[in-house]
Amino acid sequence: MAAGYSLKKAEYVDRPLSDDEMWSAFAFLFSSKSVNDTSYKYGFLKAILDNLYNTDDKLVLTFDQLFSKFTEIYWNLVLKHHVLQKKPGKLNRQSELEKALIYGKEKYAILDDIPFESLSHEMQIDICHKVKIKCKENVVGALYADLQGLLYSFSKKGEWIRINPRMYEFVCKHKVAIEKLNYYEWAKFLERVNEDSVVDHLLSKIDESTMRTRSSLAYYRDILFEEFENKCFYCGKTLTKRSVEVDHFIPWSFIKDDQIWNFVLACPECNNKKRDKLAKVFYLNKISERNEVLIEKNTRNAADSARRIKMIYDWARNNGYVNTWEPGKVKQ
Ligand SMILES: [Zn+2]
Repeated sequence: MAAGYSLKKAEYVDRPLSDDEMWSAFAFLFSSKSVNDTSYKYGFLKAILDNLYNTDDKLVLTFDQLFSKFTEIYWNLVLKHHVLQKKPGKLNRQSELEKALIYGKEKYAILDDIPFESLSHEMQIDICHKVKIKCKENVVGALYADLQGLLYSFSKKGEWIRINPRMYEFVCKHKVAIEKLNYYEWAKFLERVNEDSVVDHLLSKIDESTMRTRSSLAYYRDILFEEFENKCFYCGKTLTKRSVEVDHFIPWSFIKDDQIWNFVLACPECNNKKRDKLAKVFYLNKISERNEVLIEKNTRNAADSARRIKMIYDWARNNGYVNTWEPGKVKQ
């Protein structure tokens, strides 16, 4: 499988897998035996991890979904933090990814410090498309092969990956640990190819580059305010447009994504007290019922994930979110 990157399509290994085998596949990916010329395998794995709950019911993710996350990460790392993703050779040539990003930056005359999420929707789509065309050729097959063909099937022509259901559950259960291993090896690689001044606070730079700033919550607040009763999801207090806040039911630090099925309206007090915790199971049942209404009312694409919220809740507990919260005094 050495030339995995050149594969046009491939199927995942379809047989029962033990946890040991699945850990071994990741151990190989993160070992020195896995050849690295660039950091892109780490970026692509991160894009998959951040999209785990955005698959359809067949566990398919499109290249557009994956490379939009991938582009965002690298835009911020390369242009905002100036972290090289490839060792500059004698000719000092840029990688395909760097070329694609610089194409976007120059075409739209964007300044260095502008984060990706601040670009217009049209610019984002254009730049993501360019990155996808350049990077899909090597990255998708390379990660496939380094994970021994266990994690996904893919088709470059169809522009999708389909996650192996056996691996899907494993990765969901150990998402936080896998993400941290990935960060560690990514940072080690970047330290090798960058100057000391650039790698100052490197882990923070990687982490920050993968996090969308949460600027669009007003949009969800208005939808939820219109469609559901204006009471705090947790304590039942009546909310006004001025006192309402949007709460990530499953903590944002675990989901790393803004999706309507994970949002509830809360009073500032509950939102503030709940913070990074899961709510009690009672509220999980309540949001599941709420989501059924949401699924019926909307044709928005979130139905598969909305139905999966109970599983995601359990996975969050598996990943260390063990303390649950409920409001103290219930006010009406
Ligand atoms: Zn409340």
